[in-house]
Amino acid sequence: MTSPTPTSLIRPLVRRLKPYTFGEQPKIRGLIKLNTNENPYPPSPKVLAAIKAATDGRIRRYPDATADGLRLKLAKYHGCASENFIVGNGSDELLALATRAFVNPGQTIQYFTPSYSLYPVLADMHGARRNEVPLAAGCALPPVSELRKQGAWDFRAALTFITTPNAPTGQGCATRELKDLCRAQKGVVVLDEAYVDFARENAFSLALEFPRVLVARTFSKAYSLCFLRVGYFAGHAGLIGAMHKIRDSYNVNGLGQAAAVATLGDLPYYRRNIKRVIATRERLSGQLRALGFVVPPSQTNFIFVLPPKFSAAEWLGRWRENRVLVRWFDKPAIRDSLRITIGTDAEADALLRAARKILSR
Ligand code: PMP
Repeated sequence: MTSPTPTSLIRPLVRRLKPYTFGEQPKIRGLIKLNTNENPYPPSPKVLAAIKAATDGRIRRYPDATADGLRLKLAKYHGCASENFIVGNGSDELLALATRAFVNPGQTIQYFTPSYSLYPVLADMHGARRNEVPLAAGCALPPVSELRKQGAWDFRAALTFITTPNAPTGQGCATRELKDLCRAQKGVVVLDEAYVDFARENAFSLALEFPRVLVARTFSKAYSLCFLRVGYFAGHAGLIGAMHKIRDSYNVNGLGQAAAVATLGDLPYYRRNIKRVIATRERLSGQLRALGFVVPPSQTNFIFVLPPKFSAAEWLGRWRENRVLVRWFDKPAIRDSLRITIGTDAEADALLRAARKILSR
């Protein structure tokens, strides 16, 4: 390992690529971790039991390559067929797979800004053209008529990602407006509903209604399974089948499949936790507003706040000194704000105590 790697060994596109910046997973004792939108509550006891039960000599075997058991459960839950589903190693894997299935290098991948910061990386990785169009005031979805008037939106883009509710800003989207947009697009539309379980409405029905629309869901957020990496896309068998053709044979690990199946068998447990997260979100939002933070309404398990007195970067550091970790994105459009994951009530109280201490200095 003495001589440097000749850069010519690496594709120019990869040499130039700015990779995705993932949230920190620090090992600091006593840290209150509110930076990666993880669920503060553990998986249900039934899910933990299913994972333990699957952890025996059978792990020498490959998992189910087509995740049949899980896709059947998903089909029952959503009222459609197994062929309408593809499961992935987190929904991130499937977002990447969609770029490979539906976009030729040079064609357009489009999304609103600010939204999920993985999309530009996926476009760059694939050698696709990016079309980034700002959301309307208050980070709302611009109506189709407005998009037509402005002219920047590409109704023929090969692939459009819409984060709904949006991340990192938290605003929900009305299904009626999403439907207008889906109807107007000529290419594939992915409605990325990673946080939809915390929202008032979801747009799953659009995946069944429009042959060009896919809905992305994950077990990471509302279902406390980040560690095992399970997400899925739903849509017409034509698009889903194309993605199956190009995925890795065993893209979803066996423990993840067992855990996700057990999760779908214990949904009341998760509905209770979702209610708790929403209640904490509303209380924390109100209390931060009382301290001078600007907190737009959120339909997710995080809030995106504009802090008073100090810059967002300074708040990040000061909260960290108080063992509270939140997320700051060093990007021009959003560098004044901080994203705070909703934790337990006790974690919200610790964040508020630290905020009062920081403000009183
Ligand atoms: N979509 C959005 C908008 C997200 O914020 C995330 C999590 N970073 C994902 C998709 C991916 O989630 P996962 O890969 O854990 O399913």
